[in-house]
Amino acid sequence: MFNRILIANRGEIALRVMRACKELGIQTVAVFSEADRGAHYLSMADEAFCIGPAQASESYLRVDRIISAAEVGNVDAIHPGYGFLSENYLFAEQCRAANIEFIGPPHDAMHALGDKVAARRIARKAKVPTVPGSEGLVESEEEAVRVAKEIGYPVLIKATAGGGGKGIRPAMDEKMLRVELKAAANEAEKAFKNGGVYIEKFVQKPRHVEVQLIGDQHGNVLHLWERDCTMQRKHQKLIEESPAPNLPQKIREQLCEAAVRLAKTAGYYNAGTCEFIVDQENNFYFIEVNARIQVEHPVTEQVTGIDLIKSQILVAAGEKLPMKQREIGQYGHAIEVRINAEDPDNGFRGCPGTITKLRVPGGFGVRFDSHVHEGYKITPYYDSMIGKLIVHKQDRAEAIKTTKRALDEFVVEGIKTSIPMARRILDTTVFNEGTGDTKYVERELLK
Ligand code: ADP
Repeated sequence: MFNRILIANRGEIALRVMRACKELGIQTVAVFSEADRGAHYLSMADEAFCIGPAQASESYLRVDRIISAAEVGNVDAIHPGYGFLSENYLFAEQCRAANIEFIGPPHDAMHALGDKVAARRIARKAKVPTVPGSEGLVESEEEAVRVAKEIGYPVLIKATAGGGGKGIRPAMDEKMLRVELKAAANEAEKAFKNGGVYIEKFVQKPRHVEVQLIGDQHGNVLHLWERDCTMQRKHQKLIEESPAPNLPQKIREQLCEAAVRLAKTAGYYNAGTCEFIVDQENNFYFIEVNARIQVEHPVTEQVTGIDLIKSQILVAAGEKLPMKQREIGQYGHAIEVRINAEDPDNGFRGCPGTITKLRVPGGFGVRFDSHVHEGYKITPYYDSMIGKLIVHKQDRAEAIKTTKRALDEFVVEGIKTSIPMARRILDTTVFNEGTGDTKYVERELLK
């Protein structure tokens, strides 16, 4: 087992990893930018190094500085959290080359799955259904037009290197496709330094259902069932839950088995998520693998009772997974609400400022994963997410009631947050009946 782990991240996930390490008796080394200097969560670490100025490109994304901190801090492993360098296979490779274990998948699997077109190929090899679309990258306008005609409009143009909801453009007809194709390739080249795009059928009114996976280095890959993340705004998840409502048990099992097959085909280990969209007839299609721990991992922890961060650390240290597939159940129902510092009256833009007053909810079944506190200053440099409310109850109806009660208990002053928006979603018939689709919030609540 590791003695000391460096956490190459910030905020709530850095704190989440520190907590897991404390329970495992592992020391931690934190890194921070000048903007995060003095944050309370840093005092939980055994040692902390400043790795540069506020801009992520000069601190949390600086591989050289993080590896130097790891060497000076004398750690045997690095946990990347989510975002920043977590899906950068070159970072994983460099950590391992420096004899520091990267707590994540093997870098070749990360490399292959990080490219969406390559990931689609692996899925097809594993006999996992993919969204109908181009075989590989579309090389010309004429090819794009031909593929779109075959699968039927509307279609989506997607950047093969895309992520975080960026690099996806719809085309409703041939004329639009011709225009958008060029724009999409240019945008992808700028954003991801890779202009490769492909085409997928635009599935109407889909739900987003994903499968949590964990694999060890001895060939065992297990699924921890699914999460429904259908409530989104601009491809960004707002509320996640497990189990997925209204999903027939047979489909749930097929989805989970497909995800395990895909991971095994890719030679994957550690934690990962296989994302699918599910159409109105419950047909499911693979869309991508997130080769890291995800923001919404706590809902899975609550219903399965398995600590995913500890599991990541154990398998990275070479240990065998201690459980069998048949021992992993879904108990009760869990809901997570992302709390973002953002202003709904200003296009949901990030809302930096100081939290002048903070009271967080508690009580039976309520968990709040967050690094913020009264007096905490939110800077404009990073993601606007400041915490996650996770509720676990015996069934979905109870979980919804408790989530509403918990959201009502929050007192946050000094900044605007996404709490009122989440509260509105929880009141809708569509959410309560579990009949939403990924565009529901934008179409019905933000019109
Ligand atoms: P990213 O890597 O940027 O997260 P994804 O490929 O995972 O991109 O897609 C993000 C979201 O876009 C999905 O959760 C889903 O809501 C929507 N989406 C993706 N592909 C399709 C599709 N073919 N049809 C309809 N919606 C889609």
